[in-house]
Amino acid sequence: MPTRKPVNPNLERLDRVVADARKAREERDQGYRGRALKLYPWICGRCAREFDHTNVHELTVHHKDHNHDHNPLDGSNWELLCLYCHDNEHQRQLDTRPLTPGSDRIEGATHAPFADLAALLKRDD
Ligand SMILES: [Zn+2]
Ligand SMILES: [Zn+2]
Repeated sequence: MPTRKPVNPNLERLDRVVADARKAREERDQGYRGRALKLYPWICGRCAREFDHTNVHELTVHHKDHNHDHNPLDGSNWELLCLYCHDNEHQRQLDTRPLTPGSDRIEGATHAPFADLAALLKRDD
């Protein structure tokens, strides 16, 4: 009676599945980056730095909705950013605090104009 070793084929298959998934992910990442680079001029969307073949690896694809799995083929979710601006962009998202509604506007609209007006009126003496 031959002994069977069902474990090894399964492991091999699992390995292949993992490898395939990793490859597919890499290809997908390469895919949207390559596509974005074809779609858009090689210019950072923030600082307008221009790129060419020698430094294009510093140009990254930012996902506007921050969902890396959201890759519409028309590129509407992509923005080309240099490494620095890309960092800043994500930093900015983290720093965003909800504004107190109206507080800034009231200060800007009332205090400053009245201060100017007072200064103008005082100039008469
Ligand atoms: Zn930049
Ligand atoms: Zn990003």
